[in-house]
Amino acid sequence: MFKVKESVLIKTDREIQAIRESGQILSRLHGELSKRVESGVKTLELDAFAEAFILAEGAKPSFKGYRDFPATLCISVNSVVVHGIPNHYILKDGDIISIDCGVYYNGFHADSAFTYKVGNINPEIQKLMNETYASLYKGIAKCKAGNRVGDISAEIQRYAESHGYGIVRELVGHGVGKNLHEAPEVPNFGKPGKGPKLVDGMVIAIEPMVTMGKRTVRQEKDGWTIRTADGQPAAHYEHTVAIVDGKPEALTTFEYITETQKVVYNG
Ligand code: MG
Ligand code: MG
Repeated sequence: MFKVKESVLIKTDREIQAIRESGQILSRLHGELSKRVESGVKTLELDAFAEAFILAEGAKPSFKGYRDFPATLCISVNSVVVHGIPNHYILKDGDIISIDCGVYYNGFHADSAFTYKVGNINPEIQKLMNETYASLYKGIAKCKAGNRVGDISAEIQRYAESHGYGIVRELVGHGVGKNLHEAPEVPNFGKPGKGPKLVDGMVIAIEPMVTMGKRTVRQEKDGWTIRTADGQPAAHYEHTVAIVDGKPEALTTFEYITETQKVVYNG
């Protein structure tokens, strides 16, 4: 999301467990949202549901009040890439909506995003979603001790660009922990072998933002909404991932997402 500049914090097993628990609440929330994304629903209604769900779990929304962001969810429709503010827009058949959410529980955040479809969507847009989703898992596979952040970045970029898509440069993945955004930055573009070394105990949000057209984005006057400059659609998938025993472990999951919204990836 935002750029961060401090040193990387290594988490203990107990801290990773706390993030895993935040991640479970968040993942179950995405499961509930996946059943509620449909034609005729206002994005504000989804936001109200999410806030009530998180509070009922004894947790807090990470985004609400963060730098004065007014809502629990970032809801980004069609050409909005990220940071869309829930409003009175009514979802209609053929839309895609990226829902990004953070949950704060037991002193630790988790952060996860998923792009949902509304009714029947254009097959080309479905392909954008499938390949963006695949690029997330390609990136996660590189999240191993001994690799560097650039190995994740380069893999996501290589994969998305091989399908002719754009990779947004202005926003990046990030460390996650006691703070929503920590070091290191995890760009979705870069060079293998560059950047901070990945070690056990690191927890990072990996979050490719992929555009169907050009990668250029602009920010709207509300100070939040990031939209593609050419008005083409964009997709965004995100997991919070820990390095445990040298290997990646996603602390958020899409397993609760309803079948009709699931993206199949056999990578
Ligand atoms: Mg994030
Ligand atoms: Mg996020």
